[in-house]
Amino acid sequence: MPAPRPPAPGSTARPIPADAATAIGDFARYPGCRLLLACSACSWSRTYNPERVLRRLHELRTGGHATRLTDVARRVGWNCPACGRARWRMQFAWPATLTESEARRLAARARN
Ligand SMILES: [Zn+2]
Repeated sequence: MPAPRPPAPGSTARPIPADAATAIGDFARYPGCRLLLACSACSWSRTYNPERVLRRLHELRTGGHATRLTDVARRVGWNCPACGRARWRMQFAWPATLTESEARRLAARARN
């Protein structure tokens, strides 16, 4: 029996469907969303602030708004802390703490 592990911080986020064309700059379409980095080999995941990840891409001159999430995930330079593999996928996700009404409020503010 493997030892129980505490849930990863991002594990309760609700993923937003993404496709191969989804780019890091698309976070602006989902006000309040997080960037979810998840291991494809096990269920470990954590979330990031997408604005900060985008700013980092700019700083490193490795990408910008149009950089696809699949390419951002490919740049992750470390292995999964749970299973040791490096099979990452990335998509946006609603944080577990974001309620429906809060999401609507943020979306309304983004439109104005
Ligand atoms: Zn893993």
